[in-house]
Amino acid sequence: MPEISTPYRILVADFSQESNRLNLRPTDEELFVVERGQDILRSPTGVLKGLTETLVKAGVTIEPVFSASGGAGGLVDHDFYLRMREELLDAVRRIKPDAVGLDLHGAMGTTETPDAEGDLLQALRHLVGPTVPIGVGLDLHGHITPRMLDNTDICIACKENPHSDFVECGQKVAELLIEQLEGRLRPVTVSALVPMILPGAAETASGPLAEIHAKAREYAALHPSIKDISIYNVFRFTDDYGIGQVVTILSNGPSADTPSIAVDLATRFWVERERFKDDLLTVDKVFERVRSSPDKRPFAIGDMGDRVAAGAPGDGTILLSAALDGYPELRGAVPITDPVAATRAIEAGVGATVTLSVGAGFTPGFTPRLITGLVEHVSDGNFIVEGPVGNGAHSAMGPTAVLRVDDRIQVLLTTKPADTIDPAAFTSQNVVIGDLDFVVVKSGFHFVLNFAGLATPVLVNTPGVGYYRKHQFEFRKARFWPEHDLSTPAITARQHSAGTSIRM
Ligand SMILES: [Zn+2]
Repeated sequence: MPEISTPYRILVADFSQESNRLNLRPTDEELFVVERGQDILRSPTGVLKGLTETLVKAGVTIEPVFSASGGAGGLVDHDFYLRMREELLDAVRRIKPDAVGLDLHGAMGTTETPDAEGDLLQALRHLVGPTVPIGVGLDLHGHITPRMLDNTDICIACKENPHSDFVECGQKVAELLIEQLEGRLRPVTVSALVPMILPGAAETASGPLAEIHAKAREYAALHPSIKDISIYNVFRFTDDYGIGQVVTILSNGPSADTPSIAVDLATRFWVERERFKDDLLTVDKVFERVRSSPDKRPFAIGDMGDRVAAGAPGDGTILLSAALDGYPELRGAVPITDPVAATRAIEAGVGATVTLSVGAGFTPGFTPRLITGLVEHVSDGNFIVEGPVGNGAHSAMGPTAVLRVDDRIQVLLTTKPADTIDPAAFTSQNVVIGDLDFVVVKSGFHFVLNFAGLATPVLVNTPGVGYYRKHQFEFRKARFWPEHDLSTPAITARQHSAGTSIRM
C-alpha cells in the first residue's frame, strides 16, 4: 500500500461502453445503468472497485461523480455522451481535485465521434491543466489513440481475456496515481501500433497472445523502471483511423529501452498474424455434440455472431430455430432481444399461451421466428452478476418474459440486449440450468469463467455483427490486416507526454 503524506482528494468516475458501429441501435441513456455520487461506492465493480478501495485504504478522500455502464452495444447517443461529459467536467470545476481516476472502456464511440475517450480525456486535460494527474484503467479491447495517451498520465489496461483482472487494474491505477502525487513516479508512456486486428485466438491464456504477454512480463522483470506494459487487442467493430494492436509501456521517467521493447512486442503480432484464428463449430455440429457427447450438461453455447458481449443486439433466432426444428429431444434456454414480443407476452401474463414472431428486429439479414408458447415467468429483468467476470454488477435485461415452447425450450424474451455471460441471467428468470441440455449465451469468452463448473462451453459460428468476417462490412476509415491488403508495416514507437506525442 503506497504511503501518503497529504490528505489528497481524488475525483473518480466510471463511463464505460464498448461501441459496435455495426449495431444500428444507438446506445442511449435508457441502455446505460447510471448511479451518482456516494451510491457508486456501495458496490462498485471492476476497475472502479479496485481504484476506490485502494484509494480509501491509502487514506485518500474520494470524490465520486458517477458510474455510467453501457456494456456493449451500438454507438453511444452523442447528446447523452455530451451531457455526461459536462457533468464530469462540472464536478472537476467544483471540486478541484488533486487527481482524477477513471474507469473507461477504451472503445467507446458516439454517433458523432469514434474516439469518445480521446475527446473526454482531452477536455479533461484542458480543464485541469498539465499538473493534475489523470489515471485511467481500460479494457484491453480498447481502441487506443494518441489523443488518449497524450492527455493522461497513467493509462493502462487489464491483462486478461476473459477479463478476470479488472479489479487489479484499478488497484494499479490507484497506486500509480498516489506514487505520482507523492513525487515518486514521473510517468512516461511510449506506444507502438501495428495495423491489424485479431480475427481469432483472442484469449490471453493460450496461443500467440499468451506468448506475447509472457514476453512482456519478461521485459518488465528485466527493467525496474517499467511500471506497466499494456497490450491492447482493438475491438474489431470500430471504424476509425489508426485501428490496430497497440502496446503501451509506462515507465518512471524516460527510458532508453522502452521504445524498442514496445516495437518488438508490436512486431510479434505481425509476425504471428496467421495464427490468430478461431476454430468454431457450425450450428449443426454444435447441436450434434450436445446430443451425443458424454460431456457435462448443459452445454453453454456461445452465439459468436450475435454476441451482446461484443455489442450485437442479441436478436438472432438461428439457434432457436435449429433446436426447435432439428433436435426435438433437446431441452434448452435461448435469450432473444425483442421488446415488442416481450411486452406482448408480459401483457398476456403468466399462464397464457401466446403466438409471437420473435427476434430479427435489429440486425439486418436476420429472420424472425414464429413461436407458440406458455408464458411461465415475467420479471423486471434485473439481476446481479455472480461469476468472476463483472462480479457484483447490476445487469438489466429490461422487462423479460420466459416462454416455454414445445414444453422443452425456454425462450427468454428481453426488452434490452441481455448480458448473458452469467448463469444469473437465467436463474433469475426461474430457469433451472441443471435440468437442461443447453443454454445459449450471447458471449464468446467471459461466460466460460462464469459458467465454470455449471456447463461445458462451446462456441458456434453464427451470422451477425458480433463476429468479424473479412469483407462482411465496409470500413470507411479503418485500414487493417486482414480486411485490407497491407504490406509489412513500419512499426515505430511514439512517446506521449504533456498533451503531445513525438515519434521516436
Ligand atoms: Zn473486453
